[in-house]
Amino acid sequence: MTANDAAPTTLLTLSPSRASDFKQCPQMYKFKSIDRIPTEPTVHQARGTTAHLALERLFQQPAADRTPENLYDLFRQSWSELKLTEYPNLFESVEDEREWGLGSLQLLADYFTIEDPTSFEPNELEMDLRVPIDEMTIRGILDRMETVTEADSLGVERELLVITDYKTGKAPPEQYAGKAFFALKIYALLIRTTQGVTPDRVRLLYLNGPTVYTLDINDAQLDAMHQQLTALWRAINKAIATDTWPARESVLCGWCDFKETLCPVFNTPAEIAVSRAEIDAEMAGRAKAETEVTAAESNAADSSHTADEPVDASTEAVSGD
Ligand code: SF4
Repeated sequence: MTANDAAPTTLLTLSPSRASDFKQCPQMYKFKSIDRIPTEPTVHQARGTTAHLALERLFQQPAADRTPENLYDLFRQSWSELKLTEYPNLFESVEDEREWGLGSLQLLADYFTIEDPTSFEPNELEMDLRVPIDEMTIRGILDRMETVTEADSLGVERELLVITDYKTGKAPPEQYAGKAFFALKIYALLIRTTQGVTPDRVRLLYLNGPTVYTLDINDAQLDAMHQQLTALWRAINKAIATDTWPARESVLCGWCDFKETLCPVFNTPAEIAVSRAEIDAEMAGRAKAETEVTAAESNAADSSHTADEPVDASTEAVSGD
């Protein structure tokens, strides 16, 4: 099987991060979303995933328990789970893992300098959204949504609906912060579409810094995002139909997983052919391993069913209906 075997003929769903990929570079989007080329997990991704899970669990606890020590414990607990399932063999040594862990705990300590998690109750955590909008289906997971009370310049209090995204990477310089709100504006659009309420504010919490960027939003901004998203959806479908994926070089290429292997801007056709062959072989190996695991699990399930759970003929008949 090669990377292109399962290429779709039309777009089924689009997430904010994939929409952002296409905006940045259609060729990178293709590598990630069409070819589905696996990339090696990084320590930064591991930190982000673990911190998100720990913060989600923090807010599931009573306000009085949302202490730094508790968050550190939740981070350790979350990492012990994710390490087994998503990030095996990420670190070459125990020392590397320990250093990473200490750096992560420092980020979490810094979190308490930018907000007080005991001062509010989130309405939603890790909202799993899959929303049809016109011809599109947009999906994604929103970190948090809450209602906060704020006094205006005249001292009149009002309630604001706020959606929040955590970042464990460094904040961009303020003059580039506008672009960072792209995903949150899409989430605000999804909230407006599903709940009929326009969020008042979006917030990016950068734990590394720490830094908070805030943007008040309105229906006009979300209407513009709706149009932009529709244009992106159509552009991706056109790219799929014509198999046209221009590589768009930018300063962000330095963070692209494909710069050294498949990108036509930075590699010769011969180098790309070698990389492609290696990737196809790796993907074929993974597919084979997954098939073997599935077969082994299926056999195990069959034998346990035979040994431990005699089939109830009446149940089978009901199920058969
Ligand atoms: S290195 Fe740059 S131009 Fe090449 S695929 Fe990645 S983002 Fe696109």
